[in-house]
Amino acid sequence: ADSVDAAWARAWIVTAAEVLAENRVALITLDREIGDGDHGENMDRGFQAVLEHLDGLADDATPGDVLKVVATTLISTVGGAAGPLYGTAFLKAALAAGSATELDGPALVAALTAARDGIVLRGKAEPGDKTMIDAWTPAVDAATAAVAAGAGVHEILQAAASAAEAGAAATEPLVARKGRASYLGDRAIGHRDPGAQSSALLLRAAEAAAGA
Ligand code: ADP
Ligand code: MG
Ligand code: MG
Repeated sequence: ADSVDAAWARAWIVTAAEVLAENRVALITLDREIGDGDHGENMDRGFQAVLEHLDGLADDATPGDVLKVVATTLISTVGGAAGPLYGTAFLKAALAAGSATELDGPALVAALTAARDGIVLRGKAEPGDKTMIDAWTPAVDAATAAVAAGAGVHEILQAAASAAEAGAAATEPLVARKGRASYLGDRAIGHRDPGAQSSALLLRAAEAAAGA
């Protein structure tokens, strides 16, 4: 069957931790422009903590169990705006995944949608507010279109990641209406939102973990 499983979920998080470590300085640089300069540090530290907690998971853990460990670890170790937002995203995705051992295309899209909805529930951002939602919403839309067109899980994640990257780039000309960057007014124009960028990195890691 065309699906992702717990091995994919673990590989996603291991890959995400690597990619966030590699992009630590780049994310700090983005957050220095329109925030307080800690986003790369927050994400790197948070995902290193997640790796430690993943080691403690039972061998028969489900994808939902993996996502729940990510959620609780991010909530407890990452401060600021991004910790609770990503924590809620992974918690809602875990709830959507339930106790299933495999997620097929529709279940995967349901989990991605739940993650995005969780960020909106928590942060109340709308598309165009120059936040991580500007990566997640096009990603969910692209994933929904892909599954409706009969795409498999890898193609769904590829579509989501590409849409998230385009969405992150599209935050550059925007004025921010949520988070620290909203205090800057027009001075945020010309800078990419760090959370949208880290969201695109996370979704590309999800695709990489699903293989070709
Ligand atoms: P802090 O701003 O507390 O230092 P981070 O730097 O870790 O936290 O994260 C900042 C990112 O959080 C922003 O780039 C933006 O994408 C995201 N963000 C902030 N507020 C919101 C919100 N209300 N809804 C969605 N995303 C938000
Ligand atoms: Mg910050
Ligand atoms: Mg901060």
